[in-house]
Amino acid sequence: MSSNHRCLCGNADWIKVFTYTAPPAGETRFACSTCGTYYREVLRCTRCGHFISVSTMDMNSLYAGAYVSSTYGDDGIRRNFDRIISLPAEKSDNAGRVRRVVDFARNFLQDGRRNRKPRILDVGSGLCVFLYLMKQAGWQCTALDPDPRMVRHARETVGVDAVCGDFMETDKFKRFDAIAFNKVLEHVADPIAMLRHSARFLRQSGFVYVEVPDGEAAVADGPEREEFFIEHLHVFSLKSLDVLASKAGFVPVQVERIREPSSKFTLCGFFIQRNTLSVKPFNRTVLWTGSSFRFL
Ligand SMILES: [Zn+2]
Repeated sequence: MSSNHRCLCGNADWIKVFTYTAPPAGETRFACSTCGTYYREVLRCTRCGHFISVSTMDMNSLYAGAYVSSTYGDDGIRRNFDRIISLPAEKSDNAGRVRRVVDFARNFLQDGRRNRKPRILDVGSGLCVFLYLMKQAGWQCTALDPDPRMVRHARETVGVDAVCGDFMETDKFKRFDAIAFNKVLEHVADPIAMLRHSARFLRQSGFVYVEVPDGEAAVADGPEREEFFIEHLHVFSLKSLDVLASKAGFVPVQVERIREPSSKFTLCGFFIQRNTLSVKPFNRTVLWTGSSFRFL
């Protein structure tokens, strides 16, 4: 089936995978999905396996202040934060995330940096559990979120620097050793532009950490999977994550396919700027494996 939607890879040929005429169980009810007729399709790119969610509903209202209220309730931020930070490590998606980033940074960041705290920016910091743990791991943390309630929570409860705003309109940051997009890029119409924008805040020797829903793994479990919920405009394949990195000017140096404690199917990628390979930041050998680089 051909459509006027263009995939990240440039292809415009799609296969219809799922059709929804009502919200699947567990999907957040947004204003746009509760009034009028609910109709949505999930399409899959015939070339790279990427998924998109296509709807005639007005998706622009999805994050207009309603997202936090719909997801956590007006007073739910602190309660949810407290609940999640008390999870044992083996049940915490965030504990696994911090372990991956800290392990990668230990191997990747250059020795010259080790006399200061490494700096990380978390784009779309939300409940800020990730930075709460990164701070404990010795990182200097900056949160960015468009919702002022989340920003206040990051500053007052978590005790990190926090900026309120739209990442695409932000250009005042200093440079970071790491920039994280944890389950963020699937929510935006143009994830390539968003990832590309991060390069201006990244040190030459730094890296970007990306987590996105893994549609390739989730699709076999059917249309009820949360990876295909309405707020995910994009659901990735290994190949489309590669396309995303490459078109945004990055090279994936490590990509993992994981099943998280929460049961989410997730792709985790570590990207560096394309021209970094030639400036020899590595202290280990790097091997191209066909769809990703691996450290040896
Ligand atoms: Zn594609």
